[in-house]
Amino acid sequence: MSAPVVTRFAPSPTGLLHLGNARTALFNWLYARRHGGRFLLRIEDTDAARSTDASCSALLEDLQWLGFDWDAGPGRDDERGPYFQSARASIYRDAYARLEAAGHAYPCWCSAEELELQRRLQLAAGRPPRYAGTCARLGPDERARRAEAGEPATLRFQVTADRAVEFDDLVRGPQQFAAADLGDFVIRRADGSASFLFCNAVDDAAMGVTHVFRGEDHVANTPRQLLVLAALGLPAPRYGHLPLLVGADGAPLSKRHGSASVADVRAEGFLPEAVLNLLGRLGHTYAAEGWLDAGARIAGFDADSLGRAPAHFDPGQLRHWQKEAVHRASADALVPWVRHRVPAGEEARFLAAVRANLVLPTDAAEWAHVVYGELPCAGGEAREAIARGGPEFFDVALAAHAEVADYAALVSALKARTGRKGRELFQPLRAALTHRLDGPELAALLDLMPRATVRARLESARRIAA
Ligand code: GLU
Repeated sequence: MSAPVVTRFAPSPTGLLHLGNARTALFNWLYARRHGGRFLLRIEDTDAARSTDASCSALLEDLQWLGFDWDAGPGRDDERGPYFQSARASIYRDAYARLEAAGHAYPCWCSAEELELQRRLQLAAGRPPRYAGTCARLGPDERARRAEAGEPATLRFQVTADRAVEFDDLVRGPQQFAAADLGDFVIRRADGSASFLFCNAVDDAAMGVTHVFRGEDHVANTPRQLLVLAALGLPAPRYGHLPLLVGADGAPLSKRHGSASVADVRAEGFLPEAVLNLLGRLGHTYAAEGWLDAGARIAGFDADSLGRAPAHFDPGQLRHWQKEAVHRASADALVPWVRHRVPAGEEARFLAAVRANLVLPTDAAEWAHVVYGELPCAGGEAREAIARGGPEFFDVALAAHAEVADYAALVSALKARTGRKGRELFQPLRAALTHRLDGPELAALLDLMPRATVRARLESARRIAA
């Protein structure tokens, strides 16, 4: 029987959670849930200068908002933790010691200037830049002397040049790298901190991770990570490298394309289900085209349906899924959109009236204003429609309004007394009452609108039409 699936999301808490990373988290989460496995959350905070507690809290909140519950991670420790890399230094120290003892790693004292010079010479000679191996050639005495002198050194992994590193990528298929092209790489920085690719690989093994979906910007790290794991005798996960998220112009998705972070779309009022319906289809194809709830999203997720082409993020599609999400949302989920804009207790009735016309909270605010607020004098098309209604129409409407209690009665009185019906009746009425030519069903709006507001708008329309 194959080992149970364990996936993870391993963000660095150095800023807002980008939509691209949220998609990475989603695919790892879906894969674990689809295969009855475990999903871990590991915080990669070894870069002390750039990692902040505020980013970390925001990250956890965004992940929770999207519904990615983790089986182990921050706040849910287990025997494989801790799940913050900053608390795992002793694990990395042991691994360094093992690699050094086995001759797989050596200290390097080359200065940044020397390395830069080597790099330039190699480039000038038309060769790809890679570490020239200077410190690999130091004898044991020289190493001991320098170590004693306390000169800060990095630790490099020694790559055995005459081999190929191969792996079968879950997205990109078979990959092959010549080890000779990799060069001996740094696994511990001169300040003693672990390099990204080292602790990332060591932790995946230590945490029993079996599958890793991550951005294709990490493909070049993978052969190095496989070498480190092999040298330590540790199992490697299967990697799948996801194509980048790009904007309509083909450039990597960024703030310039509008919302690029989960915090942005959340602040605009997009619902998590809308974001998930979109992200699940960026670089992954679902057999079903329509709305997917969480169960269907999990059941239909398939690593074989991951594509290699750059995935286009289209804000129009996000709005499309948002409409669907609003349509399905519980009233409770939408009430915060109208709180303090709609009289207390009326929220559910108001939402029922306008729901089909809502995409974002700003739309709810707008309709709340139409129903309960003070509108400036009607202008544009609405004013023209009112004028076409004519003064008598509004005289009749005002008289009827004084006598009847609700919308249905008002409309039948208007029909009976003016002989009008259809557009001729409803367009001037809608324009007068909402200052718009379309919108939610008028009956529902009017039954919410305070009587004094209805009267004032009919009077104003009467003046315009005169
Ligand atoms: N901390 C890395 C990142 O945020 C993780 C990469 C990986 O998933 O392996 O890019």
